[in-house]
Amino acid sequence: MAMTLLHGRFPSTCCSRAQTTIVLSRPNGFVTQNCSCCGKPRSVRPTDLPERYCLRCEVRLDVGYKWNNYVYRCPACGDESEVAKLVPKWNEMFDYQGYGLDSDGAMLART
Ligand SMILES: [Zn+2]
Ligand SMILES: [Zn+2]
Repeated sequence: MAMTLLHGRFPSTCCSRAQTTIVLSRPNGFVTQNCSCCGKPRSVRPTDLPERYCLRCEVRLDVGYKWNNYVYRCPACGDESEVAKLVPKWNEMFDYQGYGLDSDGAMLART
């Protein structure tokens, strides 16, 4: 499974400056930035999205909207990639990191 981890440009507001990870929170392409510490989701503004570059043109991608979802769009070649298709689903992400919602016991057991 190809998984790109996009981290929000600003730290989470709940845990002390924890990093956030952008995940797909609903199947329709709605993305949130979840605290990597406690998993709490927060809405994503365009300015929260990390900078990405076009691999072909090596220019910085613009952030735009398509069907109400965020897309990265290359101003040079017009290539578009939907943010929702780049990032993991929130449950994959938090299972992957061992931070599933009901895995507190498992986390404690592991440490
Ligand atoms: Zn948190
Ligand atoms: Zn390009």
